[in-house]
Amino acid sequence: MRYLPLFLDMRDRLIVIVGGGPVAERKLALLAECGARLKVVAPTLTRALQAARDAGRLEHVARRFEPRDLDGARLVVAATADRAVNAAVAAAAEQHGIVANVVDDLDLSTGILPAIIDRSPIVVAVSTGGTAPVLARRVRAQLETVIDESLGRVATFAATWRGRIRAAIPDLSARRRFYDWLLDGPVAGLVRHAQPAAAAALIAGELARRQRDPHAPAAASAPGSVALVGAGPGDPGLLTLKALRALQGADVVLHDRLVSREVLALARREAELVEVGKTGHGHRVAQDEIHRLMLEHARAGRRVVRLKGGDPFVFGRGGEELEYLRANGVAYEVVPGVTAALACAAYAGIPLTHRDHSGAVRLVTAHCRESLDATDWRGLATARETLAVYMGVALLPQLRAELLRHGRDPATPVAFVENGSRPEQRVVTGTLARIEALADAHAVRSPALLIIGEVAALAPALHWFGAPPERDTAQAARDAA
Ligand code: SAH
Repeated sequence: MRYLPLFLDMRDRLIVIVGGGPVAERKLALLAECGARLKVVAPTLTRALQAARDAGRLEHVARRFEPRDLDGARLVVAATADRAVNAAVAAAAEQHGIVANVVDDLDLSTGILPAIIDRSPIVVAVSTGGTAPVLARRVRAQLETVIDESLGRVATFAATWRGRIRAAIPDLSARRRFYDWLLDGPVAGLVRHAQPAAAAALIAGELARRQRDPHAPAAASAPGSVALVGAGPGDPGLLTLKALRALQGADVVLHDRLVSREVLALARREAELVEVGKTGHGHRVAQDEIHRLMLEHARAGRRVVRLKGGDPFVFGRGGEELEYLRANGVAYEVVPGVTAALACAAYAGIPLTHRDHSGAVRLVTAHCRESLDATDWRGLATARETLAVYMGVALLPQLRAELLRHGRDPATPVAFVENGSRPEQRVVTGTLARIEALADAHAVRSPALLIIGEVAALAPALHWFGAPPERDTAQAARDAA
């Protein structure tokens, strides 16, 4: 290891930046984070640097560099395009006995500014020893995705309790166990869930218990929990960072059949994957069984991810599962996902609302007869509104009949989006009057979403993903005649 990583306290210390161009501007943004005094030596400044100077955030020395500029400085960053100037800065730094970072010049540098992941007070610094800054940025990007933003909050919270914890638990190894409990368990969970008061109450209670009885068994270090996670429509790129983190921290993933293989591939390698959408015999695992599995795994202390296609709260029975978890005292969180309506619309080039065509969108399910029987058809038939129908093909006749009976125009454009966002996506367009014929003629298969409304007519013009939309063949033939 050639370079020693070191975190320097720069509050109110002087850092000199030589150069006033865009590179200096970028470095300044980082250096300003640590509360240092900043002095920029350069004949001219970029507009942003001028603004920073005018706002009193830096001192400007408006001329070329001179060695005395480094008097009193702890660090100098040379960011000029002139190697002679950079070399003079490096030499002066050597004489002053301070660290010099010369941008993009390893030979002249005695220090490297790393790529950082800032979860203050926790900061991760990445360096490739100056050999491949691109690689450092990539490593940084990877770490950014796996390290939760809330880590800093948890660290800050824990720090405020440090003195009290030390006083209550003098024994070092007992204290370590206490910290494990704090960081892995419900306290950190509550801080992450933006409930600091509840976290404080919990930690205070636990400390009091320990003080009354120092030999009390430690609270269970990591009670299990369930994350109800939306997996999106299939394209793994549509997962949220939180969903990815949950998958990468999972012990067990209970997933629906709809969840794509590409998404499942992102789960932690050691995680047990259980499909609960269907059993091997083609029977649906009953909702009770899903509840039982969640509870059993959580009670065994595992981190359970209940992974659902799209969004867990859109026609996903997510609400029932939470009610069950709440009733059984299992900690949970919910990570939303991109629901089929949003994904299919986006990937088919169909804006769900549009100033010229549609002022509202309704998410409707046509999965079972009961859901249709209870439907407000008059509302659904409103012109200039978009319906996104989560559907089984079987109920199309009733859907069409009711919409027409309640006054929706038979010529209303429609689009089926099959396998939205997946490489095999198909879009089939036509009119409301012919939805069954359309689904039939084009052999539309599940999973498919039906978009009804004036906006559906935009698909042929705006499509950008997968095969071009297929038009209603009968209609097309008639148009040609
Ligand atoms: N919670 C899910 C919906 C579950 S209901 C969500 O938010 O998306 C299942 C229905 O969703 C399917 O019958 C289909 O209508 C729709 N669907 C889910 N994924 C889809 C996809 N990739 N393409 C088209 N429709 C999809």
